[in-house]
Amino acid sequence: MIERDLRDIASLSRTREIIKKYNLHLKKSLGQNFLTDANILQKIVKVAKLDQATNVLEIGSGIGTLTEYLARTAHQILTFEIDQQMFAVLTETLNLYPNVTVVNQDILKADLKQETTKAFTNHLPLKVVANLPYYVTTPILMHLIKSELKIEQIVVMIQKEVAERISARPGSKAYGSLSIIVQYFMEAYVAFTVPKTAFIPQPKVDSAVLSLVKRQVPAVLLTDEKAFFRLIKAAFAMRRKTLWNNLVHAYGKDQKTQDKLLKALESSKIDSKRRAEALTIQEFAALSNAMVGG
Ligand code: SAM
Repeated sequence: MIERDLRDIASLSRTREIIKKYNLHLKKSLGQNFLTDANILQKIVKVAKLDQATNVLEIGSGIGTLTEYLARTAHQILTFEIDQQMFAVLTETLNLYPNVTVVNQDILKADLKQETTKAFTNHLPLKVVANLPYYVTTPILMHLIKSELKIEQIVVMIQKEVAERISARPGSKAYGSLSIIVQYFMEAYVAFTVPKTAFIPQPKVDSAVLSLVKRQVPAVLLTDEKAFFRLIKAAFAMRRKTLWNNLVHAYGKDQKTQDKLLKALESSKIDSKRRAEALTIQEFAALSNAMVGG
């Protein structure tokens, strides 16, 4: 017989109790920092604008702290947890919520299309809400953004510095290839920051909740997406160097390549002495399209 505990998982005392009861050895290597602040959970749910007509995909259930809030607000929840030792915990902590499916698997290895089709009985808008393990934040975000799932919004707690990089605007120090690649697909903003003290165990860095809303159409019109992503990576390879230096380094120093690059820069009206961090996504798109076309 499973006990029913009606208290929130999100409190310091209950989290400590669960850790003790199941003799959990929290793994730093899996980014196991559990939220214990109910106010923050409420704020996350608010940023995600969840309701009964929304399904949610969560990554990293942990002991079910955030999952419980999602289950109370949204229609159905599919949550992935890589760590086997959490499975027994979740069976107890989430036993009041029949709308939750827990899958004991690495999100990066999961067949997301198949798992969501199995878990969700209704075709409803899908959002991702998660307190992500920090060691794999970027691979997980890219995996989701590039997956064939129709995700309307992603609301994730991540390392503050990474949230700032993803949402950065041109001209700022944080602006780089990650900002452009994500903002090509999504509208990004930092909703709020979260101090280390909201977790147990406390992480070394502060966190932030990032909202990414899927654009109806990508931010810019591209002739060749792959060529654009290659250009972005090349342009930011060495931040202190000029755009020109980075481009010849990546594409080649021979005369023919230099002529082609110069022609593309000229037709897209971009000064080759500028640095990549000063260029807008529209300027990168113009340059990429000129390089492909020329
Ligand atoms: N959701 C809980 C909370 O808010 O307190 C736990 C969040 S904790 C920061 C991240 C969780 O992700 C951990 O429980 C960890 O075991 C799990 N995790 C780490 N890597 C994962 C992966 N590749 N796939 C699925 N879960 C993963």
